[in-house]
Amino acid sequence: PSPVNEADTILMRLIPYGNNQRLLIARDISEQKRLEHTRRDFVANASHELRTPLTVLRGYLEMMEEETADSEALAGWKAPIHEMGEQSRRMNRIIESLLKLARVEAEGLQQRQERVDVPAMITSLVEDIRRAAAGAEHAVSVDLEAGLSLYGRASELESVFSNLLSNAVRYTPAEGEIHVRWWSDDAGACFSVSDNGPGIDATHLPRLTERFYRVDPGRKASSGGTGLGLAIVKHCLEHHEGELAIDSTPGEGSTFTCRFPSQRCLNRRAA
Ligand code: ADP
Repeated sequence: PSPVNEADTILMRLIPYGNNQRLLIARDISEQKRLEHTRRDFVANASHELRTPLTVLRGYLEMMEEETADSEALAGWKAPIHEMGEQSRRMNRIIESLLKLARVEAEGLQQRQERVDVPAMITSLVEDIRRAAAGAEHAVSVDLEAGLSLYGRASELESVFSNLLSNAVRYTPAEGEIHVRWWSDDAGACFSVSDNGPGIDATHLPRLTERFYRVDPGRKASSGGTGLGLAIVKHCLEHHEGELAIDSTPGEGSTFTCRFPSQRCLNRRAA
């Protein structure tokens, strides 16, 4: 069945019905939309309310981490306090990602659109990664089509690129190779990040962009993941009529490719 109109609250589909006939089915989805808004607002409000008490806890825990770092009298407290500090930082990352996801879901379409210099944005993100401790352990190579810009929302595009880059860094063991590409073809523009990390089994691929879905939920909390990164990527891409393709072979590595339609491309190289 092909959708013929997807208005805000009425979903209509045209279904072939007999010889040269079509059946029109209309479904009222206003209740579904209302529930979706309620869920989104609840998550945003709850995350916002948790921010303040957590900031207080993190502040005191950081003070305690400093106090116990060099104190012989408090040596027994050093490990548990450090662990509490790590967990509070993790909780903070989750809350910030939840707020970001709620903002992207609620405000995405209202954000200003502009010409985004994608090669400059990717170059700066890659430099940040090379400077960061974990990124310095990898060989990051870059192949960018100069002058190829996109029309879109800068903060959302940055979320797409930075989440995919930081995943490649996080999941690829030290001394691994990461390759970043940005190019155009007849159909539009593509951004891809390839790594030679552990790869992902095909059974997980369909669920990877769900909120909190992680291939290995037991991974160390300090790895920096929240399970929300690819959900954010998916929403940001949808706002740009973009698509995410994941190509992965266990034991060999993964390639995450984002495709943007040609209407969004500026200064595309003539194919
Ligand atoms: P997380 O914060 O856990 O990284 P994401 O939504 O970004 O959450 O990713 C979901 C899951 O997909 C991750 O937990 C990980 O298991 C898997 N994944 C993402 N990127 C890669 C990658 N480059 N290599 C291997 N696994 C990956």
